[in-house]
Amino acid sequence: QTEVLDSKNLRIKLVLLGDSGVGKSCIVLRFVRGQFDPSSKVTVGASFLSQTITLKDSTSVKFEIWDTAGQERYASLAPLYYRGAAAAVVVYDITNPETFLKAQFWVKELQKHGNPDIVMALVGNKADLEYQREVTREEAQTYADSNGMFYIETSAKTSDNVNQLFEQCTEGDIAKKP
Ligand code: GDP
Ligand code: MG
Repeated sequence: QTEVLDSKNLRIKLVLLGDSGVGKSCIVLRFVRGQFDPSSKVTVGASFLSQTITLKDSTSVKFEIWDTAGQERYASLAPLYYRGAAAAVVVYDITNPETFLKAQFWVKELQKHGNPDIVMALVGNKADLEYQREVTREEAQTYADSNGMFYIETSAKTSDNVNQLFEQCTEGDIAKKP
């Protein structure tokens, strides 16, 4: 849940879900450390990082970020991380349609078992690989619109839209469920 500590301080528990290899850990490392490591390690189980940002209206927001492993053998653990989360970031790789289908699986799971007011983001990562794109913006936007999510394309490699993704997760109103 988003916790309002006082009018100028929020705390948001956020979970990243999505297939293995789509770039979840790279997105988090880009956001938290400002770095991209192309040889980053596969996440085992889940990892936790936090980062505090200040919004334009000077509200300070502390993100408590759970970065999950995408592998099938950890799927049963996912509810431990998304239960009680205020925001869920569902990531796919724009060059890999199978990962877009996997994202849809996670969205259904969140709709069934997640917090009903959870803010959901659909994230097409690896936007720097435009020439290898296999999932169009239109199909992703249409899917996001019909599932009460906001849609954004990011590149952990170039940092494009990474901060914007997290900032948008604080705007609960734009991601109301249908
Ligand atoms: P995770 O399993 O979802 O956590 O994926 P990782 O963050 O471990 O990234 C998987 C692979 O994708 C790594 O080889 C990264 O270097 C690569 N990768 C991650 N984000 C991007 C991106 O935005 N652009 C490109 N070109 N590669 C990326
Ligand atoms: Mg990972």
